[in-house]
Amino acid sequence: TIAVTGATGHLGRLVVENLLEAGVSPDQLVATGRSVERLSALAERGVRALVAPYEDLAALTTAFAGVDTLVLVSGSEPGVRVAQHTNVIEAARAAGVGRIVYTSIAHADTSDLLLVPEHRATEEVLRSSGVAWTLLRNNWYSENYVATVAHARQTGVVLTSTGTGRVASASRADFAAAAAAVALGTGHEGRTYELSGDVAWSFDELAGILTDVLGRPVSHRSVDTAEHVRLLVEAGLDEGTAGFVAGLDAGIARGDLADATRDLRTLIGRPTTPIADSIRAFAAQD
Ligand code: NDP
Repeated sequence: TIAVTGATGHLGRLVVENLLEAGVSPDQLVATGRSVERLSALAERGVRALVAPYEDLAALTTAFAGVDTLVLVSGSEPGVRVAQHTNVIEAARAAGVGRIVYTSIAHADTSDLLLVPEHRATEEVLRSSGVAWTLLRNNWYSENYVATVAHARQTGVVLTSTGTGRVASASRADFAAAAAAVALGTGHEGRTYELSGDVAWSFDELAGILTDVLGRPVSHRSVDTAEHVRLLVEAGLDEGTAGFVAGLDAGIARGDLADATRDLRTLIGRPTTPIADSIRAFAAQD
């Protein structure tokens, strides 16, 4: 039996889909989350869908009974994630789960990206848990740039503070396929995979893609961090969120997400989704 946390979210749902498509019987799948509505949709397909908040050790332990492999999709609330993930890991240990597959972040051991500390701490908890583990250090989702398409369509500008930094993003579907492959496969214990797109693209290149896709000139404008924060606040973001966005761009400018590896394409057995394909899909939905 395979369990997936965050199964009501974008990535977790795709992991569940991949497992079902690979032939896993729905009754051999445990899906956890909080949204009753989205869990019901999974239950209707025969999946064992259970409400198990990361704060609820008892509910998590009950959900993981009989589970061999757990895919722990990292939580979405910065600041409380180490405690949440520790709970999940503790529940898995108590329930006798054989292996935990954790979705971490690119180069969590060495990177200074703002998001890294919680992932690094979780990796450490996992290593000392006594449960076998596999680390999936995910680079950026291309979906992080959905809003960039709408903004570029309106303004003709991609506004960042990334400078010439590059991003080796892949689609959520690519990362989900890799998580499913690792959950189903053997020999992944104690392995750390740096999962990224095949190509690291620059924001100048992104503007070029947007020019082609949108049929209007789009240029990349990179400003310094302070100016970026100022412009984001002017556009309606609160100071904290603006600082966070600009802080992530500073990481990209440093090269924190620039490493294009072969791990993802090797695990999924096909090239990763090119950024141009993702942008075309976002523009069609916009
Ligand atoms: P979503 O926001 O779509 O999904 C988050 C999932 O986490 C949902 O299923 C949600 O459950 C669940 N969750 C959140 N808090 C709790 C909690 N307290 N207890 C139980 N479940 C909880 O995110 P994505 O699927 O897009 O991404 C998955 C994860 O990947 C993110 O949570 C984040 O850690 C990371 N991420 C990585 C990015 C990257 O570019 N590499 C970008 C963005 C996120 P419910 O909805 O039922 O409450």
